[in-house]
Amino acid sequence: MKKIIYILFLLILTSYLYADKIFFTRGSADFNEIALSFDDGPGLNTKELLKILDKKNVKATFFLLGTSIVKRPKLVKEIYNKGHELANHTYNHINFYKYKEEDKEEKIKEELLQCQDLIKSITGYRTKLVRFPYGYFKDDAIDIAKDSNYKIVNWTFGIDWEKEVSYEDMLNLYLENVKPGTIFLMHDLHKNPVIIKILPLLIDKIKEKKYNIVTVGEMINKRVKEK
Ligand SMILES: [Zn+2]
Repeated sequence: MKKIIYILFLLILTSYLYADKIFFTRGSADFNEIALSFDDGPGLNTKELLKILDKKNVKATFFLLGTSIVKRPKLVKEIYNKGHELANHTYNHINFYKYKEEDKEEKIKEELLQCQDLIKSITGYRTKLVRFPYGYFKDDAIDIAKDSNYKIVNWTFGIDWEKEVSYEDMLNLYLENVKPGTIFLMHDLHKNPVIIKILPLLIDKIKEKKYNIVTVGEMINKRVKEK
């Protein structure tokens, strides 16, 4: 019973948030589109990822982290110059589900703004997309996003952080989730040979299934326009 109430609550919450067009975990089910998103970078996997994306002629969305940006500003510029989408993943990767200080609201705003300013100062680009660390999307974050004209974008499926999963299983798990509007989550901060290995295959399979790979922004904007 408890579980049913919880699921109902989630459904109501999700429909409310969709109607408000602030929070997304996927795109429209009406289009054969997939978005690839990479969090926490730029990092040790980014160069290799950019090479793969270039080779496959695919644009992705990078949810950049402030502390990574300051370490590798040139890579931020490179991601941008290659035509990929830049998005905000805050500055310090604070887990706001666990943040108990009184200045929480201020802190969320500050984290958002600090990362935004960095991206802007390096590329001149002002992103409208944020993914809070750990997918945080409580009311305070939704309100701040709304006020700052941001959309919060979480993900439909991701598993690349699981160390125990083999290449094959990981590829298959991503493939099982190739559905209209899926937003895939992967990470590029740490060196992760699994991602480098499966990404080319994943992209080929997605294309074979007649899906277009688009950026998160393209996917979300389409959804917003439809409504
Ligand atoms: Zn993250």
